[in-house]
Amino acid sequence: MLELPDIEILKLYFRATSLGQKIKDIDHLNGSNPIQGLSFSDFREKLLGKEFEKVDRRGNFLLVSIKQSAETLIISFGREGGLHYTKQNAPLIKEDESTRLRFKFQNDYELRWLDTKNLGEIRFSKDLDEDSVLKNLGPEPLSLSEEDFRELLKKNELLNVKTFLLAQEKIAGIGNIYADEILYQAKINPHRQIGNLQPRERRELYRKTLSVLKESLIFIPKKNFDLSWLIAHRHADMKCPGNREHQLDREIIAGQATIFCPICQE
Ligand SMILES: [Zn+2]
Repeated sequence: MLELPDIEILKLYFRATSLGQKIKDIDHLNGSNPIQGLSFSDFREKLLGKEFEKVDRRGNFLLVSIKQSAETLIISFGREGGLHYTKQNAPLIKEDESTRLRFKFQNDYELRWLDTKNLGEIRFSKDLDEDSVLKNLGPEPLSLSEEDFRELLKKNELLNVKTFLLAQEKIAGIGNIYADEILYQAKINPHRQIGNLQPRERRELYRKTLSVLKESLIFIPKKNFDLSWLIAHRHADMKCPGNREHQLDREIIAGQATIFCPICQE
């Protein structure tokens, strides 16, 4: 799943490339029609001649407002995907093979929406405040004060800490990979119940939630995570980054393949 930091990078990319240009055409290339509640041709019709005006992020969704329209596009990226802005009709390079839509602009460039697993979705929303999906999202982790975070933990003391981090209605945008990283860096075992976390551990959980999400923004564009991070080892040697003699564990927790160090994470 693409998670908060990945979507944040995509937001900046979208903002830097695709705002304020007239949409000349839209092609649907691969997979089923990703537009919810609308045929692709109606979607295309609605956007022709319009411009993307502003782009924001909420949880793992990109929110794209359209000039002279009261509606906002809500884009979700599914498991694997991204965006690629390039010269129109430039050959599809290997990374672009999963292009599902392309938005062609009047300046002869196009924005390709990539969706490898065919799980992404796009829909229009007339009122973001009333949107049933967005309304149920928990707070944005990067906007939480330490006190807000402590309160949030207090409300969820019966939950296991991994379940809490993954629950979009409790805290928005964190998925499996970053939840594991946060817990590894905070030295907290993913089996722990929130109610049993010491004040010191709650503080660490807050600090590492913020630092992991923020520092990922530096690593993602390089496609390389620091070797002191768990992420760099989870699909590789499965060795604990802090001590090469520790073998990382893999267990299903909260329905997800959870990687952790059973020795460093108490
Ligand atoms: Zn370890």
